[in-house]
Amino acid sequence: MKHLDVIVIGGGHAGAEAAAAAARLGARTALVTLRADAIGVMSCNPAIGGLGKGHLVREIDALDGVMGRAADAAGIQFRLLNRRKGPAVQGPRAQADRKLYRLEMQRLLAAEENLTVVEGEVVDLRMEGQAVTGVVLQDGSEISARSVILTAGTFLNGIIHIGDQRQQGGRMGDHPSVPLAQKLAALDLPRGRLKTGTPPRLSGRSIDWASLEMQPGDDVPVLFSFLNRAPIARQISCGITHTNEATHDIVRANLGRSAMYGGHIEGVGPRYCPSIEDKVVRFADKTSHQVFLEPEGLDDDTVYPNGISTSLPAEVQESYVRSIAGLQNVVILQPGYAIEYDYFDPRSLRPTLELKSIEGLFFAGQINGTTGYEEAAAQGLVAGLNAAARALGRDPIHFSRSDSYIGVMLDDLLTRGVSEPYRMFTSRAEFRLALRADNADQRLTPKGIALGCVREDRRIAFAAKLDLMEQAHAALQARQLSSRDLAGTGITVRQDGARRSGFDLLSFGEEARETVESLFPDFAALPAEIREQVAIDALYAQYLHRQEQDARLLQREEETRLPTDFDYPAMPGLSKELALKLARLRPDTLAQAARIEGMTPAALTLLLAHVRKAR
Ligand code: FAD
Repeated sequence: MKHLDVIVIGGGHAGAEAAAAAARLGARTALVTLRADAIGVMSCNPAIGGLGKGHLVREIDALDGVMGRAADAAGIQFRLLNRRKGPAVQGPRAQADRKLYRLEMQRLLAAEENLTVVEGEVVDLRMEGQAVTGVVLQDGSEISARSVILTAGTFLNGIIHIGDQRQQGGRMGDHPSVPLAQKLAALDLPRGRLKTGTPPRLSGRSIDWASLEMQPGDDVPVLFSFLNRAPIARQISCGITHTNEATHDIVRANLGRSAMYGGHIEGVGPRYCPSIEDKVVRFADKTSHQVFLEPEGLDDDTVYPNGISTSLPAEVQESYVRSIAGLQNVVILQPGYAIEYDYFDPRSLRPTLELKSIEGLFFAGQINGTTGYEEAAAQGLVAGLNAAARALGRDPIHFSRSDSYIGVMLDDLLTRGVSEPYRMFTSRAEFRLALRADNADQRLTPKGIALGCVREDRRIAFAAKLDLMEQAHAALQARQLSSRDLAGTGITVRQDGARRSGFDLLSFGEEARETVESLFPDFAALPAEIREQVAIDALYAQYLHRQEQDARLLQREEETRLPTDFDYPAMPGLSKELALKLARLRPDTLAQAARIEGMTPAALTLLLAHVRKAR
């Protein structure tokens, strides 16, 4: 029998990141997965990042993880979402060539010194009392380790639904993980069923591209990794089309045949990735929905129609898809489907993602009730670092709501649990002005260096960046200017007698940039990316102060009572979803409201304002 420090079960997004993190920390690690050539497969959409999710990828990268680097290597279209809004809520996103992503992920893992990939199915866990000691594979072989991380994704008791047809499967083309699911059921952990869905895949050759609007990527692509500057792969455009009333009529007429609406699925689905059935029912007044036609790869004819996931029968899928402009003659290569799988209540976990009841067993990814590659990878990173720390006799590694989106997600999952698949949003982070995608390295790379999970090339690059940023700050503090000094420069300041540094003036925003650079030539001489970073830091310095005040106020007001007759749905500014939850749960105090799943700091501040008005 082989003896190792850490075993990771599953080579999806959580497993890949977990294995890489454990190995980087110096633990002898095995990644056991059903198919080695499927490591890094994207089960659903061919894209990484987006709002909130892009922050997670940057944080993983800041700790020298693999997801950002793989996405940069495979990116065929980069777009910074929310570009017109402030940097705090901007989300880097890349559409990825599926094959390139998978191959790059496999290459990155193969390069990890302490990591071995083992192809096989884990069917049992070796236990000694209430501690895990290793795994048993289907061929009877065993591997022992001090820590085991389970990242089985949608595979545990997975059932695929297309209309009223159902078959066992971990995802299309892969068999599910049933023996291990049975073993886990015997451990008597609180668990449930969730579901998710995916759209049909289309043949690109059968799409009438000429009739469609095309959307290119950004002129200046923003990458994920702090180590990368420019894309490697050829960049492409996506097509845009729309559903119409005929599409909706077809869907509506066949709702009873949908797995989700025909009563074939008991699991709860992701509200934020609604299927076309969901859209037609929930947004009945809308006559059209946007559909992005995303090529799945540079040498792949498959197209992913983003926005029309479904569990309708295959023939209905064909007829509704063909009712959409540009898709009249489309050929469906693989029908859309829904999948239902086991998940475990994340409230059974410690902040390290180790189970409270079983020593050495860590859970990460979709099995903890989340959805999305990025959420899975971020948990994989946490579990990988902590499983390695445990095996090597080191202290646990913690993340907090105030240092990262990773910390926000862990806290949400561990304290509130999930009632539907959990995905990240910027609104979940009360400290989002401080937790930006642009400063993830400043927040987390020092922590990674201290832990020993950041390699030399990143350590050197980061030290060089910090050095330049110090030079920038010194240059901006070199002169303190009065309102008289600034007269005629284009920057208008209050006549308050205060003297302002270049850093203070940068907080006036984009318009002040040029003037500041002309007044502080040593700053202007620094590289553009350093100037950009310092300007963003300056812009947020003032808001951060206000954010701290808000946080203190909410803490003080925790015991404030909420009137029992509050008409939440009529409250302006509150999302419909939260208003309904509040109306149903009727929390007595602000502290109770804060614990409601999906509650945001902004919504709490709003509630407090209403309480004060009602007094
Ligand atoms: P997975 O990527 O599922 O990886 C699990 C890995 O575990 C696989 O490599 C598998 O081979 C391995 N494994 C399982 N059991 C064993 C075993 N016993 N022994 C060895 N290896 C094992 N996300 C969204 O954000 N939006 C969506 O709309 C969306 N739609 C989806 C639709 C479908 C049909 C599916 C299948 C997934 C969808 N997802 C969606 C979810 C996304 O794919 C997952 O969130 C993500 O892949 C989870 O990563 P993971 O690492 O937890 O698990």
